[in-house]
Amino acid sequence: TLIIGVMAVQGAFLEHQVALKGAAEQISQRPKLVVREVRHAADITSDIQGLIIPGGESTTMSLFLRRNNMEKPLEEWIGQKNHVTWGTCAGMILLSKQLEHQKEGGQSSLGVTDTLVSRNYFGRQVDSFEADLAITNPELLNDPHQKKEYSRGVFIRAPAVLEVNDPSVEVLAAMRLSEKDAPVVVAFRQGNVLSTAFHPELTEDLRWHRYFLNMVLSCS
Ligand code: GLN
Repeated sequence: TLIIGVMAVQGAFLEHQVALKGAAEQISQRPKLVVREVRHAADITSDIQGLIIPGGESTTMSLFLRRNNMEKPLEEWIGQKNHVTWGTCAGMILLSKQLEHQKEGGQSSLGVTDTLVSRNYFGRQVDSFEADLAITNPELLNDPHQKKEYSRGVFIRAPAVLEVNDPSVEVLAAMRLSEKDAPVVVAFRQGNVLSTAFHPELTEDLRWHRYFLNMVLSCS
């Protein structure tokens, strides 16, 4: 049995649950999946093996975490070797150690990944859009369940990674807004933490959920 927690404060947590179930069926081990919604500090239990922090609004989410005394238990949970965390969009922001334009005493993040993230990197130009991702990880390429070699990313006021500050950060996907723009990192993995700037749970493409479940399987 795989126990996966999905932070259910705001954002597309129901879509993540559906995608997780679909992805579990595509994995050869066919793990039996139990999905738990995480809303309170007491929900953050060590038997949860993987945790998704979905998109939403990172300031609202970090305030919620602080008011409900969830920051410390979350940081401790994430720090365990056998626990896998996946942040999508606002989740990526919350997990990043550094944020662009971070004010003193302002928004706190969980401070896990060695990255500098811009909270609204694309939002300045376009609110929401879809784009093809340049996937740089072979496990994620050539998906047998999709007839295409690229993954389509749904970006909603999306963040992006401006700087990677540790060699243990593995870039998984980049994208460019136009031919003349330089590619920007939109997915990476650092140890047991996965971060994506886009929303795979809003597409039919389950490769990211499968990748996450395989991370959990190989960690526990
Ligand atoms: N840019 C948003 C923020 O600052 C995140 C948007 C999203 O999660 N879709 O939180």
